[in-house]
Amino acid sequence: MSPQIPFPLREKKAEEQQRFQQNLNVALVCPDCRVKPPHIVEEFASGDLVCGDCGLVLGDRIIDTRSEWRTFANDEGDDPSRVGAAANPLLDGDQLDTIISRKDGGTGIAKTLNKVQGKQLLHKGDRNIAAIYKEITAMCDSISLSKLVSDTAKQLYKRVEDEKLLRGKSSDAIIAACICIACRQERVARTFREICALTRVPKKEIGRCCNALKAKLQTSTSVMNSEDLMSRFCSNLQLPNYIHKSCVDLVRRAKELGTLAGKSPISVAAACIYLVSYLFKNPRSTKDIANVAGVSEATIKAAYKSLYTEKEKLIDINVMKDNPNCENISFDDLVLP
Ligand SMILES: [Zn+2]
Repeated sequence: MSPQIPFPLREKKAEEQQRFQQNLNVALVCPDCRVKPPHIVEEFASGDLVCGDCGLVLGDRIIDTRSEWRTFANDEGDDPSRVGAAANPLLDGDQLDTIISRKDGGTGIAKTLNKVQGKQLLHKGDRNIAAIYKEITAMCDSISLSKLVSDTAKQLYKRVEDEKLLRGKSSDAIIAACICIACRQERVARTFREICALTRVPKKEIGRCCNALKAKLQTSTSVMNSEDLMSRFCSNLQLPNYIHKSCVDLVRRAKELGTLAGKSPISVAAACIYLVSYLFKNPRSTKDIANVAGVSEATIKAAYKSLYTEKEKLIDINVMKDNPNCENISFDDLVLP
């Protein structure tokens, strides 16, 4: 103990320490013989917990936690553990049903039993919703959306189902709306047209469902912006990174000046790509851009026209020439609208 602390204080401190340093370990001691440390035996055969010194039964319901099999992880199918996977919050109930195994000595009886039980036992709703989750996963995978997005979409779908938020809409339309909103929530830019191609639900219907759902959920989804779309459009058009960067710069500048106010973020992105690709002598036709962005060529040209007339204000050519990738660029390379 440090000599600087006066005695009464020292005592107080020790007392305080003791108070906070209580032994929190719970130790099981035989109440009869009180031997420390106790010598307690688990008798799994009878399910008893027995004191090894005096033979007193301390507990009569213990669970055998040892495995009675050997698993060779990659060898054979499933781990025969008695507990299944963690409960899936996306499905109703606790999923603790017992399921008859399909495996037996090859007689085929188990398979039939499994089938019969499956028909009888599984909740019909659960089976439906499981199929829909599978569909959502497959759709999200096919346009390389992350698991985060597909999980969000599933959660949204569950809410819609549970709270009956979209009455009278087909499940396809609900799925499309859920994927759409999940994309917005996770800030992954996907256009209606892309979701439309994915789900084969008409664009108008997706829009209607999305709006209805947004209103019901009262979620604030981020507005899709041209910058987010740009990276995907540029990479689909095989444009190098410096062009992508310049496109983003142009979009920002156009926003500041309000050049393309009122145009959709998709057509803004498309028009900027068109202009920048010509400026850097790496041109992409309106047709190619229209295919990637999913807007019409006429829309791109109309937006491009506004950009072209304000090109001097939007792009500072002298600053750009400092960049090694764009030494001899000039506005003469741009096509006339
Ligand atoms: Zn004892």
